[in-house]
Amino acid sequence: MGSNSTDTCGDNSSEKNNSCIEMLNLVLDDEATEQQKADFEKHMEQCMPCYENYKLDVVIKQLIKKTCCGKKVPQTMVEEIRSKVFLKAD
Ligand SMILES: [Zn+2]
Repeated sequence: MGSNSTDTCGDNSSEKNNSCIEMLNLVLDDEATEQQKADFEKHMEQCMPCYENYKLDVVIKQLIKKTCCGKKVPQTMVEEIRSKVFLKAD
């Protein structure tokens, strides 16, 4: 609550946002180190865009994994589905 935004990577700082998404993917693919995971979790507490992304990607990846027998999910597929979800929700 409140409008005191501290360390967020909203739509206006694409550079920062990019590294967040990279980290997000490492975590989701279970390739992040414990340190990276901890950093990411800390960051998510203050970063709504990342948190929303994270929740959505987790759901999408789990869904795909189920239907693709646990194969690694290509990020392009996740993005495609995500964009469809957002279109639908709009
Ligand atoms: Zn972020």
